[in-house]
Amino acid sequence: MSDDTDIRDLLVIGGGINGCGIARDAAGRGLSVTLVEMSDLASATSSASTKLFHGGLRYLEYFEFRLVREALIERETLLRAMPHISWPMRFVLPYHKEMRFEADTPTSRLMSVVMPWMRGRRPAWLIRLGLLMYDTLGGRKILPGTKTLNLTNAPEGAPLNDAFTKAYEYSDCWVEDARLVALNARDAAQRGATVLTRTKVVSAKANNGVWTFTLQEATTGSQSTVRARMVVNASGPWVGQIMRQQIGSNSQDDVRLVRGSHIVTKRLFDHDKCYFFQGTDGRIMFAIPYETDFTLIGTTDQEHEDLTSKPICTPEEQAYMIEFVNAYLKDPISSDDVVWTYSGVRPLYDEGASSITAATRDYTLKLDDSAGAPALNVFGGKITTYRRLAENALDKIGQRLNVAQGPWTAGVAIPGGDFPVGDVDKLIDDLRRDYAFLDGRWARRLIRAYGTDAKLIMGEAKTAADLGQDFGATLTAAEVDWLMAHEFARTAEDILWRRSKLGLRDTDADSLDAYMTARRPQLKDIA
Ligand SMILES: Cc1cc2nc3c(=O)[nH]c(=O)nc-3n(C[C@H](O)[C@H](O)[C@H](O)COP(=O)(O)OP(=O)(O)OC[C@H]3O[C@@H](n4cnc5c(N)ncnc54)[C@H](O)[C@@H]3O)c2cc1C
Repeated sequence: MSDDTDIRDLLVIGGGINGCGIARDAAGRGLSVTLVEMSDLASATSSASTKLFHGGLRYLEYFEFRLVREALIERETLLRAMPHISWPMRFVLPYHKEMRFEADTPTSRLMSVVMPWMRGRRPAWLIRLGLLMYDTLGGRKILPGTKTLNLTNAPEGAPLNDAFTKAYEYSDCWVEDARLVALNARDAAQRGATVLTRTKVVSAKANNGVWTFTLQEATTGSQSTVRARMVVNASGPWVGQIMRQQIGSNSQDDVRLVRGSHIVTKRLFDHDKCYFFQGTDGRIMFAIPYETDFTLIGTTDQEHEDLTSKPICTPEEQAYMIEFVNAYLKDPISSDDVVWTYSGVRPLYDEGASSITAATRDYTLKLDDSAGAPALNVFGGKITTYRRLAENALDKIGQRLNVAQGPWTAGVAIPGGDFPVGDVDKLIDDLRRDYAFLDGRWARRLIRAYGTDAKLIMGEAKTAADLGQDFGATLTAAEVDWLMAHEFARTAEDILWRRSKLGLRDTDADSLDAYMTARRPQLKDIA
């Protein structure tokens, strides 16, 4: 006879935003949860996004009103729960009468019937109508509404070429995507979930309605088993593969893999607003102030087949993005200005859309009992909708398991986010008062990353030297220890490119790796 006490309620496959969000929600409702991530948290799509909590202005042209409305409402809910890693951002949309629709949106098809003389051009009144909907659909309370800018005298016009004289400005929010994932995982662990990184689900078997998973640890290769009543397959781009190869489902559902790349350049403009550029091909491109000294430009849409290697930004994608923004910029950029690129694969639900730009960005949750025990497969979704996706996943999970508690995550801060929106400067001042050796930039970085937890990292330090070894760019051993103990960081790359973006600066990755290897046996994940 097996002992039922060693059976978990849920095994979640995937430490991206959807897996971590579901694990957090489920653990907070009292379910026993194990989350398994084969690499680092947010090592796949969830660290490669454009990093916006946004309604998705362009989805209005696809009549995706439910998705846009849900995401617009969600922006402010999320902002309140994480005012350290997320902040409001203004978007400047320069207008030019030659701007064109993507040819196969429902709006462009409608326009070609009612206003055929426009020949695919996007009229100003339609943009204004879209922005009016964007302003009103989601019940804005914190974020300011749309306004018109005269680019001939506004500072936002200075970096643009003279053809652009008018722009619309609207609101969305920025979020540090990879930190969002780590903080959800940390919160899940604090609520009782077991989080296993560098651990892969290699096989799954259903027996008498219970799953047995074989897990493999990446560094040692050692194998172990975990049993669970239900599996959540939140493996993003791998969802179809895991459904068929590990879970053994006969479902026909699948994902469409669409690669999106970004380039990072030195800072291209002085203000803190973002540009929303429309191309002659109907696509859009963002240029966003990034990590104080840089500009983030993206993204592309490319069919992606091969999941065996890390996606990269191809030279063609890079050239496309440079050409796209150069149509707007007064001082054109070249590949010499690119300091970093990254790429991710969107796991879009395959509903047979003709173009990849048109494929839905909405999420789909599918309960699947075909392998003999319950599975929930997660397709698509946005960073912006992860909390709502988790709530809806828990509704579905409740159809198979006893989930006594209802939704709880709206309004509950993630770690370090327990302070009012807009109080970041106050937190920075407080931190500098308590730790006089911090300069403004260092203090801001710490508050933006850790919020109210920054003081826990600083501890009793009286001088910078008290924080231990210095790895460059204000990264010290005290912070590294925190990230290893509370945020599941294992390698220099985890810290330099996901828990932070200090990899863009002058840091010593080799010393950091050596330090972490030596420190690892002394620090347990304590979340
Ligand atoms: C270019 C681009 C821009 C985007 N911009 C935005 C944006 O601005 N705003 C927004 O809201 N959304 C945006 N998105 C969408 C958003 O990033 C994704 O929807 C989201 O990150 C998907 O998260 P996920 O958890 O489903 O997948 P992932 O983050 O890919 O996580 C899945 C995880 O499963 C793990 N895994 C796979 N197989 C196994 C296994 N056998 N065992 C254990 N673990 C396994 C993987 O290692 C991976 O970490 C963007 C996406 C892209 C690609």
